[in-house]
Amino acid sequence: MPALIIGSGYGGAVAALRLSRAGVDTHVVEMGMAWDTPGIDGNVFCNMLLPDERSYWLRNRTQQPFGYLLNLPVDRPIPRHTGVLDSENFAGVRVYQGRGVGGGSLVNGGMAIVPRRSYFEEILPFVDAGEMYSTYYPRANAGLGVGNVDPAWLEHAECYRYARTSRDAALRSGFTTTAVPNVYDFDYMKKEQAGQVPPSALASEVIYGNNHGKKSLARTYLPAAVATGRLTITTLHKVTAVSPAPGGGYRVEMEQLGTSGAVVATKRVIADRVFFAAGSVGTSKLLVAMKARGLLPDLPDAVGEGWGNNGNVMVARADNLWAPKGPVQSTIPVIAIDNWDSSTPCFAEIAPFPVGVETWIGLYLAITKNPNRGRFEFDSGTGTVGLDWRTAQNQPSVDAARSVFDVINQREHTTYRSDLFGVGKVWGDDLTYHPLGGCVLGQATDGYGRLPGHPGLYVMDGSLIPGGLGVNPFVTITALAERNIEKIIATDLA
Ligand SMILES: Cc1cc2nc3c(=O)[nH]c(=O)nc-3n(C[C@H](O)[C@H](O)[C@H](O)COP(=O)(O)OP(=O)(O)OC[C@H]3O[C@@H](n4cnc5c(N)ncnc54)[C@H](O)[C@@H]3O)c2cc1C
Repeated sequence: MPALIIGSGYGGAVAALRLSRAGVDTHVVEMGMAWDTPGIDGNVFCNMLLPDERSYWLRNRTQQPFGYLLNLPVDRPIPRHTGVLDSENFAGVRVYQGRGVGGGSLVNGGMAIVPRRSYFEEILPFVDAGEMYSTYYPRANAGLGVGNVDPAWLEHAECYRYARTSRDAALRSGFTTTAVPNVYDFDYMKKEQAGQVPPSALASEVIYGNNHGKKSLARTYLPAAVATGRLTITTLHKVTAVSPAPGGGYRVEMEQLGTSGAVVATKRVIADRVFFAAGSVGTSKLLVAMKARGLLPDLPDAVGEGWGNNGNVMVARADNLWAPKGPVQSTIPVIAIDNWDSSTPCFAEIAPFPVGVETWIGLYLAITKNPNRGRFEFDSGTGTVGLDWRTAQNQPSVDAARSVFDVINQREHTTYRSDLFGVGKVWGDDLTYHPLGGCVLGQATDGYGRLPGHPGLYVMDGSLIPGGLGVNPFVTITALAERNIEKIIATDLA
């Protein structure tokens, strides 16, 4: 087969669309499910209040980002199933990732932010920023269907009371706030608020999937690629090895999974070109293992290096009784506190806590500038790849977040909640939604994602971004993939 893509998230979807439109017969191999068939309740996805087997990837128990409430554990048993959200546990960090056709787009909050140009230039200085900001970011935004909440509606919509009260507290403390674009259909959300359509963002749906409203990749790039007639997608197949084939091209080995996670068959195919788009963790684990096992011996030493958590740290405030957040909160965040231009840069998104009752909880996901990096390492004893990252490496992120929320708490006479991320634990510093790096552009690959030493192998996903971006990553992953695949099609496939 001419082209095989491992994974159907942002990098994979862009590659699939552009290759198939260029006339290349393309095959996507995705370890997760298709997520196109309703369950017995009539819904494809479950909500956050009643997680069932659809929620987690092969776990017997939920592992929610906030595992506690009032210091009591809130995780519950679930049947083991190939659910949509993976909470992958490494020694120092839990990495949340989407599993299924559409990858992270199935489970994420849809926040679609172009980073400030000066920071992009700082982290990827050899990429032509002019081209990125004039061509590839606009192309990504258009392809993803990015839009903005109506500012007038935001000011009175009940479902954004939480965002307004937390914004106003930040403004009173002298911070700047900014609107955050999103791929959620805000016209649909207005109808949800008016009670005219089945709710999704207003029904506590997001991290286990949205049944309505969200323009995931399964509604944008991927159907456009399928429409070319040149793309096939195989689900519940996990790639386990890639190596040069004797007659040319690459041998790709995979396991077919049942929905209990059991391996029901092993298969191998030959592909002329292989595009790694398994995400920062998935791609890095595969490449580090292939290098260590001698299957792709010529990979550079930089493979596996430069991993970061995008400086993620979560925190919650107990707000004043006169600042209620509202019982029904949109799961789609639309406002951030922008304190990036400070000595401790911090971009903190005002997140919902959508449990259906008033909690006075002000929740935030802070993205900070944490210079610490981790690396993926092969363990020859177990044959698995681990991540060398210690929770303590997230201290700069905690410090940066503290420089914002200490000020707000002092001004508002409020306190941190310490009952959500553990018993007596203020900072959600041991989890990330934004794994980045591990196969960094221009270090582990050439300037366009080609893997040196192995012509015909490419990296297309978040592993290319050097550990931190300052904002949520999927628009940049999409834009970089658009840039790189355009070059690859023009030069390698001409
Ligand atoms: C809960 C949550 C909320 C988030 N919110 C936001 C947000 O609001 N805005 C934002 O910009 N970002 C957000 N993110 C992050 C964003 O979703 C990711 O950065 C993005 O999905 C990464 O894109 P990718 O192409 O690198 O890989 P992914 O989207 O992770 O796709 C990789 C795909 O490869 C598959 N795969 C992995 N290994 C294999 C294998 N061996 N064989 C076959 N298939 C494989 C996976 O199942 C997956 O479908 C969020 C993430 C989470 C988990």
